[in-house]
Amino acid sequence: MDISVLPSPKKVYIETWGCQMNVADSEQMLGLLQAQNYSQTATPEDADLVLLNTCHIREKATHKVLSRLGRLREISLEHNPRMKIAVAGCVAQAEGKKLMEKASNIDILLGPGKISELPGLLATHALDGKRAMSLGFESTARKHDDHELPSTRTDIEMPIVPNPTVTMKEEVTRFINIAQGCDNFCTFCVVPFTRGREISRPLESIVSEVKALVAGGAKEITLCGQNVNSYGDDLVRDGKHVAPPEGPFFELLDRAAQLPGIERLRFTTSNPHDFTRPLAELFRKHASLGRYIHLPVQAGNDEVLERMKRKVTVAEYMERVKWLRDIDPEMAISTDLIVGFPGETEEQFQGTLDLVEAVQYSFIYAFKYSPRKGTAAARFRDQVPEDVMSERLHRLQALSNSLTTQQNLAEIGRRRQVLCHYESRKEAGVFYGRTQQFRLVMIRSERNIVGKMVEVDIVEANKTALVGVLV
Ligand code: SF4
Repeated sequence: MDISVLPSPKKVYIETWGCQMNVADSEQMLGLLQAQNYSQTATPEDADLVLLNTCHIREKATHKVLSRLGRLREISLEHNPRMKIAVAGCVAQAEGKKLMEKASNIDILLGPGKISELPGLLATHALDGKRAMSLGFESTARKHDDHELPSTRTDIEMPIVPNPTVTMKEEVTRFINIAQGCDNFCTFCVVPFTRGREISRPLESIVSEVKALVAGGAKEITLCGQNVNSYGDDLVRDGKHVAPPEGPFFELLDRAAQLPGIERLRFTTSNPHDFTRPLAELFRKHASLGRYIHLPVQAGNDEVLERMKRKVTVAEYMERVKWLRDIDPEMAISTDLIVGFPGETEEQFQGTLDLVEAVQYSFIYAFKYSPRKGTAAARFRDQVPEDVMSERLHRLQALSNSLTTQQNLAEIGRRRQVLCHYESRKEAGVFYGRTQQFRLVMIRSERNIVGKMVEVDIVEANKTALVGVLV
């Protein structure tokens, strides 16, 4: 391609909030912007474009975005008048009108389903100076997947849309979105409204992307979706894919786990209701799948689970835990828990505490319930008072912290394989990585071990991390 037709070099500053799907979406947008001759910068002060990729899951999400936009306005006035601002992600999708009304410094607004339109929106805005927006749930993934993967800088300069996450970033761990949206409609969750119904990317394109990222130096890949277990069901339904009896996600995981060069393959989020025995058995088959899974249960009481529409009972959940622990008793499991879901009694909350004890989670993500506009649970009358939720959350976190600490202390004296992810920015020679069970390990080393799978003896531990000594 003639370099003279490339747009002039520009800088983009990206802030990503929320889940790993947003991380993967940001990488996709970075890939699109790199094709437009943007490079990444670490501060908004020198950015031509500031991109906020927002999350709507937590409380006061809109307020947080508006407050950040207020600060960006100050930065723009003081240091960087050329700054353009794009707001993407779930808050853009759910609260776009409000954001546009309240923050006049938004230049571009786009929902998670319209990522591929980012370059077009920027071009339109550059031409007429008007605010440009695109919201809705069209699949971006499929559009990209019609194209070959770019694998080098020269390829990125070709006049094609870059593949979702193949960027020039050289990181040990990378995230790939395998599907967008969700069909489950759990009664507390806003995702089906902000990301739409589930649309899966073609399997071959995901496998190609895993290969490309591994060839580019990635050692660990995480396959991301709102519910990875139902990946590809839409493709099968539409006659676009023929899957084995174990299903398309089994097929994808089985294929990706055996690709040469992949040290670790992870996936999130796996909804327990359709997590199957054959999927669990893949942990036995592939060492690359590690010994860790995130299996969000949300509550430890059947009536609460029913009201949440989680389609799983506590007994069924424990059955899945047993499949995994039968394969490896050391299988680490983490979960998400909501405290104070409408109508939750003290006895029902006790069920959650009992479940946490029974499973012995390696860690939990626990939150107080907060109603989301448009969801079924927001209309439930019996909301739990704030002080009751706070007290329950405190008890739950205390229990979880004590379990995590006990498990970490029990690691002392063990020898573990650790994939080293990065070197400390504060102290040279201090590296951080994760064991197969996803426990964080600090290692001192004179040689650079980033990206290496190393063997360490665990010599110290606390609530958050282990200390390992290279063997
Ligand atoms: S499975 Fe439930 S909680 Fe997860 S994204 Fe879908 S609706 Fe939300």
